[in-house]
Amino acid sequence: MKEQRSIHEEMFLEMEEKTIFNQAQEYAYEYLEQAFTRHVFPTEKAIENLAYFDEEMPESPTTTRDVLEALHTYGSPATVSQIGGRYFGFVCGGIVPAGLAAKWLADCWDQNPAMHVLSPISSSLEAVVEKWLRQLFHLPEQTVAGFVSGTSLATFCGLAAARYRVFKRLGWDVNEQGMCGAPRIRIVVSKQAHSTVMKAIGLLGFGKAHLEWVDADAQGRIRLELIPELDESTILVLQAGNVNSGAFDAFDEICEKANAANAWVHIDGAFGLWAGAVEQLNHLTKGIEKAHSWSVDGHKTLNTPYDCGIILCEDREALVSALHMTGSYIILSEAERDGMLFTPEMSRRARIVELWATMKSLGKQGIDELVYGLHERAVQFAHELQANGFEVLNEVVFNQVLVSCGTDELTTNILKCVQEMRECWCGGSTWDNKKVIRISVCSWATTPEDVSRSVKSFVKARHEIQGTISATSHNAHT
Ligand SMILES: *Cc1c(COP(=O)(O)O)cnc(C)c1O
Repeated sequence: MKEQRSIHEEMFLEMEEKTIFNQAQEYAYEYLEQAFTRHVFPTEKAIENLAYFDEEMPESPTTTRDVLEALHTYGSPATVSQIGGRYFGFVCGGIVPAGLAAKWLADCWDQNPAMHVLSPISSSLEAVVEKWLRQLFHLPEQTVAGFVSGTSLATFCGLAAARYRVFKRLGWDVNEQGMCGAPRIRIVVSKQAHSTVMKAIGLLGFGKAHLEWVDADAQGRIRLELIPELDESTILVLQAGNVNSGAFDAFDEICEKANAANAWVHIDGAFGLWAGAVEQLNHLTKGIEKAHSWSVDGHKTLNTPYDCGIILCEDREALVSALHMTGSYIILSEAERDGMLFTPEMSRRARIVELWATMKSLGKQGIDELVYGLHERAVQFAHELQANGFEVLNEVVFNQVLVSCGTDELTTNILKCVQEMRECWCGGSTWDNKKVIRISVCSWATTPEDVSRSVKSFVKARHEIQGTISATSHNAHT
């Protein structure tokens, strides 16, 4: 009789034989082949089938073959096909092939970029990409970067650095003395600030009640004439890319004012900061280099895999002090980069590998083409929708389009119908007290044909809804 292998022996064998990796690869290829053509949102059946996963913690092991098969059978169909060309929900982003492939390789490396001594390769790539980002966005020479999970955390880091520096100016060391009895810091934010800014402010111990809110204009830009007098106790949060309209604040003028007052400016540029890397669009980000910290995502506009966010800060001491940690076993390098100095985490994934690979493979030209392409598709979307009688409520300065179908009821119903048809996927929002369909063109894979096909889906949805409405009103009379 064959002797039963222990789990430990089984795992060595799996690493050696690689059958399971080949199997995963086959499933992945099958997935990729369909991802660009299949329905964008999973069917109701696929979502129902997720019940398969609902079980108590299993007592005995399952073979990796069966684990992978379960993922492919029940998992793959229940994914949102975000990597294809017709997903326009939230502000998401597809995936550049080089980034995906590099991530596969780096998954085998399983590196921890906390310290140089833990992963020289990650440390080197982080240093190089830090330099590239500084150049692409034209930021000050002394700007440093921390590689985190997304803009939520990047904004948290930027505001933590701001908190450290502003307190320091007021004669208070927040690391030593904490928040109790601290001098007052003023925080000035636009009413159109992203909710993750509010989350960061909350986590940093500033109450919402103390914020100084500033109204935004019709496009969602902070109204500079309403920004209160700034001083050295102030943190001002600006925005490159309003999450609904895609609008950009007037950085140049506002940062001048802030710098004259010695206030700290943080820019939330989750998806919009990339406009600064593109010749034809960088009028939108004019003056960003005069701010003090910037948060931006790789996983949105640049189309790296999730999770990839970056905090950029021109005040190295403030960022490092805000995120500092020590321990007797920590080995910091003198000449090389220790990534954890610039992030809240100690251990983390070496997401830098796919960020580097994406930037290296695209080059400046490729980034230009990718980012400007998103803008062009958004403009096309707006034009074709308008030509078909839909109303576009925002100036399409970047990649966001806000669409109204007339009444709130029609907009809501047509959106629901578009979502159910699964030809494309968009979310909804509220803009200027109106319900809107919110389109975010964020994937390199979106072609002009994808846009036209999606517009057709809007037209068809309107036809169905209006057909239903006249049918019901007809029924009501009979
Ligand atoms: C998406 C987004 C965020 C949050 O970024 P995550 O990467 O999801 O954490 C913050 N601000 C704006 C403007 C965004 O679009």
